[in-house]
Amino acid sequence: MRTLRIGIAGAGLLGRLLAWHFSREGHAVHVFDPAPHPHPAHDGHGAAGFTAAGMLSPLAELETAEPALAALGWQSIAHWQAIVQRLGTPHFAQNGSLLVAHGTDLGAARRMLAHLDRPAELQAAGFPAHARAQALDATALAALEPDLHGSNGPLHAWLLPGEGHIDTVATLQALQANAKGVQWHWAQAVRDLSPGMVWPGQGAGPTPLRFDLVCDVRGVGARPTLPVRGVRGEVVWLHAPGVRLQRPVRLLHPRHRVYIVPRPGERMLVGASELETEDRAPMTLRSAVELMAAAHSILPGLAEARILRLDANLRPALPDHRPHVHTEPGLLRINGLYRHGWLLAPALVQQALRALALPGLPGLPDQPDTCPAPSAHTA
Ligand SMILES: Cc1cc2nc3c(=O)[nH]c(=O)nc-3n(C[C@H](O)[C@H](O)[C@H](O)COP(=O)(O)OP(=O)(O)OC[C@H]3O[C@@H](n4cnc5c(N)ncnc54)[C@H](O)[C@@H]3O)c2cc1C
Repeated sequence: MRTLRIGIAGAGLLGRLLAWHFSREGHAVHVFDPAPHPHPAHDGHGAAGFTAAGMLSPLAELETAEPALAALGWQSIAHWQAIVQRLGTPHFAQNGSLLVAHGTDLGAARRMLAHLDRPAELQAAGFPAHARAQALDATALAALEPDLHGSNGPLHAWLLPGEGHIDTVATLQALQANAKGVQWHWAQAVRDLSPGMVWPGQGAGPTPLRFDLVCDVRGVGARPTLPVRGVRGEVVWLHAPGVRLQRPVRLLHPRHRVYIVPRPGERMLVGASELETEDRAPMTLRSAVELMAAAHSILPGLAEARILRLDANLRPALPDHRPHVHTEPGLLRINGLYRHGWLLAPALVQQALRALALPGLPGLPDQPDTCPAPSAHTA
């Protein structure tokens, strides 16, 4: 294949994954982003990918995502495994995740579990047969996660086998560091683009930069091209020495959805609020109290954990909450990854690459599309 000149608008999750892939394929890649540098600022701005918990939870996401979409997550997990292997850093684990509920909240938990308990539909969508919630008794839960127990008595618990999690900050940094030969244009927003053309910077002249392929992966910054909106999410970073947690755990609660995700270095991430606002200001007291109280109610050892950081960002969402994949000669556009960005990114990139007849990501051989037909969005 001839060397392509590729321009990428956005250095978030999708932008870095594409830049890394295209650099490995030997193309000449330029990436533009308004961020002043490649590192997370944790100031509410910049890539949502840095703020994300990195749960790769296709089964748990069935609560809000249709089966065909969630099934793409299984494909993505295989891609992440292969990608992380090539990045040479252990930022990924696939030892399942847990759902837990306090004794009094069993009704709410059963309503959520009903979304997972439809084997024929899930297998038709592409889930393997073993992808089912497995109820755990107290002994089985203690064997998996000895530090998990309810503040008011035993927890109900279910294992979701095959789910994974990935260290988002480390992976984004590794993708960028390993994207050899890529030219990163920091502090340069793209103000407009079209097939084969990019207009970077503010108030620059009318002459666009020309590329063989332009990738529009600006997330919330893609307005007005797409009717994308930001859905605020907040997370708490903790340092919890001595508290054991091997896999992500979600608390099923009638009012809150709270999860705890282990990170290297005895850190844990507690998330996440989901608020219909584009407010990028620091976390509110209400969110902080709710997240931390819920986390402490299932992992009492967190009482002595230190709060490292409170972080907030915006998930890029389209009106139908489905991802948008568009390709035409000279243009690739992906957006609307909403709350499943890490779960879906590799599978959606794979679809777009296939549509452009370009070689795919490492991981799985090319698969037929299981994603519902991408929706057409106009602003
Ligand atoms: C609190 C929280 C928790 C989450 N947890 C999970 C999770 O556990 N699992 C999961 O799968 N997903 C999760 N997500 C969702 C995931 O982070 C997003 O879906 C994903 O980051 C979207 O990727 P993206 O590349 O489209 O956007 P982003 O990662 O936001 O990147 C967009 C990039 O475009 C740049 N940009 C903006 N405007 C311009 C412009 N004009 N020109 C050039 N560049 C521009 C931005 O600076 C940014 O770098 C979470 C998100 C949040 C906020």
